Amino acid sequence: MRYRCRRCGRSQPGDFSLWRCPCGGPLWWDAEPRLHRTEIVEAESSMWRYGPALPIGLAQRRITLGEVVTPLLAVEWGGRKVWFKDETRHPTGSFKDRGVAMVVNHALAHRVERLVEDSSGNAAAAFAAYCAAAGIGCEVHVPATTSTAKLAQVIAHGARVHQVAGPREAAALAAQSNSAGRYAGHNWHPLFVEGIATIGYELWEQAGYVVPDQVIVPVGNGSLVLGLLRSFTALLAGGEAHRLPRIIGVQSQASDAIHRRFHGLPGSPAAARTIAEGIAIRATTHEDEVVAALHQTNGDCYVVPDAEVVTALRGALAMGLFIEPTSAVALAGLTRLLAEQPADGAGRTVVVLTGSGLKVADAVAKLTTN
Ligand SMILES: [Zn+2]
Repeated sequence: MRYRCRRCGRSQPGDFSLWRCPCGGPLWWDAEPRLHRTEIVEAESSMWRYGPALPIGLAQRRITLGEVVTPLLAVEWGGRKVWFKDETRHPTGSFKDRGVAMVVNHALAHRVERLVEDSSGNAAAAFAAYCAAAGIGCEVHVPATTSTAKLAQVIAHGARVHQVAGPREAAALAAQSNSAGRYAGHNWHPLFVEGIATIGYELWEQAGYVVPDQVIVPVGNGSLVLGLLRSFTALLAGGEAHRLPRIIGVQSQASDAIHRRFHGLPGSPAAARTIAEGIAIRATTHEDEVVAALHQTNGDCYVVPDAEVVTALRGALAMGLFIEPTSAVALAGLTRLLAEQPADGAGRTVVVLTGSGLKVADAVAKLTTN
């Protein structure tokens, strides 16, 4: 396996010797995956069924926590029929398990003894759990403001937690300079996005081998946008899709770096103080690629204020869906999108619900109880 730098194009070894290119650019799996329905591993009922399009297939996978094909729920929102991809059902309760499962299996193959990660919470929980399963040491750098319940999950799995004062980016810098293990920050590691890509394959297969018309996702660093584009591109290459679905990113008004770049707005990004802690980030590592991906798919990017996020969260809870506020950001974006689009012209719309509210139950209760 090789990596390639998206900035300067240089090929690099596909191991843990580098976490980014010497030029500073992000590294990617140097491959152009393609998938045809005949290549699906029918006997496997998880993300690993798309192994032929992944850097690590079923034969190379050494550990699993029982990743699942998550439900695609047909629901009504604002009087319209849409679909929710319920990523809260994964082993640690968020979509991050897909990417972390890929990274930790890669670390096992390279005999890495200790991984270092930085996260606002969900990815930290995923790393701690998968490293525990793999017998790999785990150091996690989190912002000091991270939810206690999320930290409890990390600590319980035996990871060493470093709480870092300051913004989300301070936790990343601290992790990158931690020499106790190999840095595998999920916003940088090349294989993380490849695991996330499996959401796109599932959306296509669950709909009877048809890609959706548009997919709405919350955007912090943008790994969901990049993962979806990766799988939809592979389906195009495999002759399974005839066009790329529109990818529509939604950010918090208080954390709007991608939105600003996408729309060419002047000024600097907001200070990243929002109830949607999963996407509270100011400086992103893949900004060029995420903005390009949204444009490439003829997509869009919205920002929503916290008040609309709370309204959307209440709406989801009233449907029996216990999601975290970060997921409700996408639903607030959905409300805006539906108001702009004619009822018969939008096609099939999917929203990705990224994480469970159980980890932030206190916050959900406070936000939604009168
Ligand atoms: Zn480079």
